[in-house]
Amino acid sequence: MSTLWLVATPIGNLGDLAPRAVEVLSSVGLVCCEDTRRTGKLLQHAGIRAERLAVCNEHTEYERIDDVLAVLASGRDVAVVSDAGTPGISDPGERLVGAAIEAGHTVSAVPGPAAATMAVTISGFPSGRYVYEGFLPRKGRDRATRLAEIAAERRTIVLYEAPHRIERTLADLTEACGPERGVAVSRELTKLHEETVRASLGTIDVGDPRGEYVIVLAPVEDQPIDASDDTVRSLLREAIDSGASTKDAATQVSDGTGRRRREVYQLAVDLGQFPADGTPDDAGTLST
Ligand code: SAM
Repeated sequence: MSTLWLVATPIGNLGDLAPRAVEVLSSVGLVCCEDTRRTGKLLQHAGIRAERLAVCNEHTEYERIDDVLAVLASGRDVAVVSDAGTPGISDPGERLVGAAIEAGHTVSAVPGPAAATMAVTISGFPSGRYVYEGFLPRKGRDRATRLAEIAAERRTIVLYEAPHRIERTLADLTEACGPERGVAVSRELTKLHEETVRASLGTIDVGDPRGEYVIVLAPVEDQPIDASDDTVRSLLREAIDSGASTKDAATQVSDGTGRRRREVYQLAVDLGQFPADGTPDDAGTLST
C-alpha cells in the first residue's frame, strides 16, 4: 500500500525542517510542490536529491490528481509540500488527499510549522478552543457575513493576511467587532524580524506593513455584545440560507450575539425574504 505524505516545511527558518521530512522527501517517487524553484532550493539546502518534482498549485492541483494516483498505484509514495508551512492549510493538498483516500491509499503527514498554530499559541488568548478562518473573502456579502460571524464568535479566531491588505482588514474587524476587542498581530514568524503586537482593535498600530501576517482575535466575551442591526441581519440571512426556520434563526442569532430574542425575531420577520413561521407570542420560547 502506497502513502501520500503531506510534508510541512519551514515558514521562515530553515532550521525548522524536521529530520523525518528529509527522510520522506528523499524516498518518495514524486514530490508535488507549488513552485519547483522554491522547493528546489529547500531540497538543495537539506541535501535532498528528489527523484521527481511536479508543480501542484491552486490552479493545477485538480489536474495533478491522475499523475499522483498513477505513482501511488505503481507502489511508490508521493509527497506534497507547499511554499511554506503545512500543505492543505490555505495551500494545495486537500483535493489530493480526497482523491488518495477515495482510491484506497494511505494518507499521512510529517507535521511541522504552521503559521496559524504558532500565532495562536503565542497570542496570549485562550488556545483551548480556536477557529481557523484563513483569508477573509475579499469583498461583498461573503466578507460581510464572515465578519459578522467573527464578531459573535466565542472561540479565539485566527486569520491570515497579506501586507497590502492588513490595514483594511483590521479596520473592517474593528467596525464589526468593536474597538475593545483584543488582537495579536504577528508578522515574520520564525524569521529575523519576527514581531507580535498585542493590543485592542481600536489601538493597534502595525506600523509600516511589511512581511506576512497572522491576526489572532480574542473571543467575544460572555456578556452580550452590542451587535448592530446589520450584523444581526447578516447572521440571520446566513442561518436561514442554511435551512433554519425564522424562529430557530432568531434563537441562534440571539444566543450568539446576546441581543434580545424578540428584537432579533422582529428583524428576521422584517427581512421580508421569507415568511414568518409564528409570532413571538406564539413561539413561546421567544421571551425577552
Ligand atoms: N500553509 C501555510 C501555513 O501552514 O501556515 C499558510 C500558507 S498561506 C498561502 C500564506 C499565509 O500564511 C501568509 O499570507 C501569512 O498570512 C501566513 N504566514 C505564512 N508564513 C508566515 C510567517 N512566517 N509569519 C507570519 N505569517 C505567515
